[in-house]
Amino acid sequence: MDDTRDVIVVGAGPVGATAALLLADYGLKCTVVEARREPQSHPAAHVLSTRSMEIWREIGLERDIRRLSAPMHELRNVLYCTSLVGPELGRVPLADLPHAQIDAIESVSPTRSAHLPQNVLEPLLWQTLRDTARIDLRTGWQYSCHTDGADGVSVTVTDVTTGAYRKLAARYVIAADGSASTVRRALRVTMDGPVLQHLISVHFSADLERFRYRRRGPVIWTHTAKGLGAVIVHRPPQDLVFQIPYFPPFESLEDFPAAVCRRHILDAVGADVDIEIKSIQSWTMHAQVADRFRVGRIFLAGDAAHRFPPTGGLGLNTGVADVHNLAWKLAWVVFGRAREALLDTYEQERRPVGIAATADSVANFEGLFEVVAALGIPRQAVRLLPRSVAAIPEWLPRRPVRALIRGLTTLAYQRLRLANSPSRVGNRIRRRAAAVIAGQGPHYRSWGRDLGVRYQCGAVIADGLPSPSNDPQFYSPRVRAGGRLPHCWVESCDGRVSTLDLVSRDELTLLTSAGGYTAWSAAAEGLSMSVALLGDGELGVFHTGIAGADPDVLVVRPDGHIVAALHSDRDGVASLRRALAVVGAPSSAKALVHE
Ligand SMILES: Cc1cc2nc3c(=O)[nH]c(=O)nc-3n(C[C@H](O)[C@H](O)[C@H](O)COP(=O)(O)OP(=O)(O)OC[C@H]3O[C@@H](n4cnc5c(N)ncnc54)[C@H](O)[C@@H]3O)c2cc1C
Repeated sequence: MDDTRDVIVVGAGPVGATAALLLADYGLKCTVVEARREPQSHPAAHVLSTRSMEIWREIGLERDIRRLSAPMHELRNVLYCTSLVGPELGRVPLADLPHAQIDAIESVSPTRSAHLPQNVLEPLLWQTLRDTARIDLRTGWQYSCHTDGADGVSVTVTDVTTGAYRKLAARYVIAADGSASTVRRALRVTMDGPVLQHLISVHFSADLERFRYRRRGPVIWTHTAKGLGAVIVHRPPQDLVFQIPYFPPFESLEDFPAAVCRRHILDAVGADVDIEIKSIQSWTMHAQVADRFRVGRIFLAGDAAHRFPPTGGLGLNTGVADVHNLAWKLAWVVFGRAREALLDTYEQERRPVGIAATADSVANFEGLFEVVAALGIPRQAVRLLPRSVAAIPEWLPRRPVRALIRGLTTLAYQRLRLANSPSRVGNRIRRRAAAVIAGQGPHYRSWGRDLGVRYQCGAVIADGLPSPSNDPQFYSPRVRAGGRLPHCWVESCDGRVSTLDLVSRDELTLLTSAGGYTAWSAAAEGLSMSVALLGDGELGVFHTGIAGADPDVLVVRPDGHIVAALHSDRDGVASLRRALAVVGAPSSAKALVHE
């Protein structure tokens, strides 16, 4: 196979794989270089947001993902309890919301969020990569180094088994090689922000059905006198994960053999049950964003660009939205539809989103301390312990320091004993915890955050309107320049489609009502722009929520974000030319034909 590609994608995790599939859908040829030979078998992400599902819907993957996903009844609530058999402390409803609220959530998108473990998602993505003619997936090869030149990038890749190397050439590179990104290090891009915690992740299978009868949910937080934990119900019974905090450098993965992990899980369950441990991994929770998302012809995406706590389930989803933002820009530049400068808007638009997602995820993480504080352990104690341990000189003997850490944590966890007690004190503590848990909604419900992303600068003409109320939990469609085009169902000659389906991939799209159609399609004449007409019942997509501010037309980019919200009293031709200029597109030039 010819080694010259439009794009080399480093990493076939969810972000790299999605990038390659989007690029191929635009007609670009890519090589995906992936160090592993098999998809990841240890589950990590599981919450796939509505926006991610919209993106996968564009490339025909939504149905397969939905088919594999957990049924709705598995997503009823996020649960907090002492142990699985012990008293419940509280719950945050997800699918268990009132019907009217579920209807409202479902009305804002042609699809909805899903719950699918990463170890099931990745094989599907890899198979699709293999089935896609424009994609050359090379597993067992890793990025080693590169040289960035005027016309393209030369990437040296190494066979992980034999050490054999070869050079690949491409016009651009997407580094989606995860949180420890080698490409990022080679580019000397730094990550700003702290390390928050170190965790052991135990992948196990067990039949927990009898304990989950009234406790259906994707996450169950446990609080026992022996420790804090989280059971992630990825795909019961075979894919369950238990997370245990640990304290390097005085503790390491070796301190958590299967027998120790099994003891932790049994304590969290609170009853005897058969457990098969499948794998044990350690991971580090950061709150960091790369200082640059683009260096020359190389773009960082996903965890390579931002790594933050999984509290809120934003990591994979933010990465998928990164590459959705980048794919059309790369395609347009490669095909000569837009100038190179369009590529600079990737960092301008996506870095603020990465920073916001990091801040939200940290706030969600800290919210967990409030629950623990309500149960009697001061939040500062939980928050400061990892930092204090990190400050202990490494040359001190490991064993006594480890004993000290265990002594301190055991002492602290003893306070959780009361939450299990049937006494009046126990009742009071549980009521206090329930009140705090009731306020944890924004941690898990993030439709507003997910669909409300708005680019304030980049390939956008600001409309000067204030941001709509930023409820992270529930999204209300309010049109804004830079925001995602609101969804509504539209009758077309192809049947019922979403407004999102009206958006062209090759040109900007002008959405207008019947009233403005004649004037605006005349203004768009000769410009490289497609015009879509909305019926009277579909005009909600122009709704700003501000009296007198609703635009008459919207100009929309291929990723469904609005470049400009325009009014009919302005010079239509000049406004449309400005919209084309801001995405670096010539007004009427024909696209170069890509060979
Ligand atoms: C416990 C836990 C729960 C989570 N839950 C959620 C959730 O519910 N929702 C959510 O959105 N996110 C969640 N996340 C975060 C999510 O897992 C990550 O954000 C996501 O995996 C990032 O995807 P990625 O493709 O950027 O990176 P990765 O998944 O890390 O993939 C990177 C790929 O690059 C490959 N690679 C690395 N180096 C090289 C190299 N030199 N050459 C070639 N290939 C290389 C790796 O083998 C890997 O396949 C969770 C994370 C954890 C730890």
